[in-house]
Amino acid sequence: STLLFLLIIFIQSCGSTQVEVSEEDRFVNELLSKMTLEEKVGQLHQITSQWNMTGPAPNNEYAKAHEENLKSGRVGSMLNVIGAEATLNAQKLVVENSRLGIPLIFGYDVIHGYQTMFPVPLGEAASWDPGLLELSASIAAVESAAAGLHWTFAPMMDVGRDARWGRVMEGAGEDPYLSSVLSAARVRGFQGEDLSDKNTIAACAKHFAGYAFAESGKDYNTVDVSNSTLHNVILPPFKAATEAGAATYMNSFNIIQGVPATANSYIQRDLLKDKWGFEGFVVSDWNSIGEMIDHGAAQDLKEAASKAFAAGNDMDMEGYAYANHLQQMIESGEADTGYLDEAVSRVLRIKYRLGLFEDPYKYSDTLREKNTLLSPGNRAAALKVARESIVLLKNENSILPLKKDLKSIAVIGPLADDKDAPLGNWRASAISNSAVSLLEGIKAKIGDNTQINYAKGCDLVTSERGFAGEISFNTEDRSGFPEAIAAAKKSEIVLLAIGEDCYQSGEGRSQANIGLRGLQLELFEAVKKANPNVVIVLMNGRPLAIPELDEEATAILETWFLGSESGHAIADVLYGDHNPSGKLPMTFPRSNGQVPIYYNYLSTGRPGPKNEVFWSHYTDETNDPLYPFGYGLSYTTFSYDKITVNPNDNGMIVSAMVTNTGEVQGTEVVQLYIRDLVASLPRPVKELKGFKKVQLIPGESKMVEFTLSEENLGYYDNDGNYVVEPGLFSVMIGGNSRDLIKTNFEWNKAPNL
Ligand code: BGC
Repeated sequence: STLLFLLIIFIQSCGSTQVEVSEEDRFVNELLSKMTLEEKVGQLHQITSQWNMTGPAPNNEYAKAHEENLKSGRVGSMLNVIGAEATLNAQKLVVENSRLGIPLIFGYDVIHGYQTMFPVPLGEAASWDPGLLELSASIAAVESAAAGLHWTFAPMMDVGRDARWGRVMEGAGEDPYLSSVLSAARVRGFQGEDLSDKNTIAACAKHFAGYAFAESGKDYNTVDVSNSTLHNVILPPFKAATEAGAATYMNSFNIIQGVPATANSYIQRDLLKDKWGFEGFVVSDWNSIGEMIDHGAAQDLKEAASKAFAAGNDMDMEGYAYANHLQQMIESGEADTGYLDEAVSRVLRIKYRLGLFEDPYKYSDTLREKNTLLSPGNRAAALKVARESIVLLKNENSILPLKKDLKSIAVIGPLADDKDAPLGNWRASAISNSAVSLLEGIKAKIGDNTQINYAKGCDLVTSERGFAGEISFNTEDRSGFPEAIAAAKKSEIVLLAIGEDCYQSGEGRSQANIGLRGLQLELFEAVKKANPNVVIVLMNGRPLAIPELDEEATAILETWFLGSESGHAIADVLYGDHNPSGKLPMTFPRSNGQVPIYYNYLSTGRPGPKNEVFWSHYTDETNDPLYPFGYGLSYTTFSYDKITVNPNDNGMIVSAMVTNTGEVQGTEVVQLYIRDLVASLPRPVKELKGFKKVQLIPGESKMVEFTLSEENLGYYDNDGNYVVEPGLFSVMIGGNSRDLIKTNFEWNKAPNL
């Protein structure tokens, strides 16, 4: 406080024309001025832990060298150090031994929970509820912060249109607006109001940029998009992250528009740092600097380091490019000293904001860790988010909700009693097999009067479950079929849990075929023959092409990978204790060949009058998806009526009447889309611009209002400038992107934005 006082006196004495120096800037500049070149480069070097860090380094050369580097301030950050004890020890090693005692920043992939697991991000996005995503991220932060982490490599805000790309599971789906709103909520959840609070952690907006647009859906592949797609689809969520105060960004492995993202100075320097005014730092993806050699963009690691550094990549994750070459490049004048000071300042600033210089040990707390991980309160929140993430895709004859007095029910399928699959991929510190399975959820829900007939039916995979190994599917072993058929025969209703293995979607998990794998479809057919009342409980991390199920199953419930409370959440929905209101954040295709398929496409010059078969079509498949973006049913029904547009000072109010036309109370996600009918550059046939969740009792109507500002009507031109053009627009409201009521309006003002 004395320092602060002196600073205030100093600033006052400088007079009003002087630029005020913040306490943060003063601190960072002063520390920077004390640092040697080696220490500066050290701050930009991030390594993964080589031993569990709870004790001294094991006696091997590699680990010993790591320990020495940590002690001498040649490392600025570590990832994958797990637990309060380990992070505390590692931090002590650095703070107590290095010359300036600059604390490490610990990062980890906390993607959908630390130990209490929430639904995978694509699933959470189906809730269309920013408040819930903020809640889940805040609990993930509380748990990971207690374990000593300061930083999560999340949220992934890559807008994904291609379900073959397995990492769509980690994002918020195909729409830039929904992704912007939801990703910003996640950033707020992780970071809270004050980053220095010991219950919050720094977020990382990744992968900057374009990673999800990998050609043919193959992970890491080249991305070749137009300027229009770059500015209007890929970048908006990242811009929203800067606006939400995201502390860090991670670049990506791919080449984008001919330049590796890691060395893309237009994206990292010109846009992010200069135009958007981002103050934090950019970390590379894992050895993405080194990968530039294989891209053919650098002849060796030194050249790769030089290009990434010049392009604004501040920290090197596990690539050893900066650690091995940057000092020498600065000394020889090959790299810019100004850039070095800028990069180091950015890293120090985030450490300062986290409060690490005040107390480098406050995060790691074994007692807090013990009390918060998987606490009843955290599990209750996970249950709440899981319920809201479920999407009802089909419900013939209103077979759902199930009656509580059924005499018998069959619970069948390779995923039906799986306590591990619901934890999904990227599970941070989750305990294996710690989720509530579907079978357990059903058992907990119903009384003794219902007979449960469980049978697995078949295995889904034959390989060992894991993050990276190749997956092989069971295509031969049908020995469990007879038991499954018998269970189906003696039950009133069948619940069949099928879909994907939990490691089938995620990094490096691209698929050319996104239908059901292994014997699952066969199992379905066999069970269906024995009992026609089959309710499918789908578990998966990406949209699946499942026209057979849509045709033949009685009901389909999309449950993604719902996390720790999966079985309870699904049982709540199956039995109607929670009326589903989730909506798909990504289009489900009918077949592989339709992919990429998304709702906000540009019209061809040959559309059919109603998008039915016309010349722009397949000869062997319709143009329609299986389920459109925004789609999801409820146990009640809603109708839409009376859409109107009323101008006001800043834009307009668009409203429509929504009525609950069914028999039970329900929640509807009311969606607003626009189309700019004629523009200097063609605009998509529909663009989401707003959504609201409304609750209605049977027979109740509500006028739902949206405010559209003139800014909402604009788009980015090919130079990345935002323009709003006068002209004719359509505005559409409804419960999914296909079934909408519509009106047109003329916008005459050409605002100067
Ligand atoms: C992934 C990132 C992740 C990083 C650290 C990379 O392979 O692409 O998303 O954050 O590893 O685990």
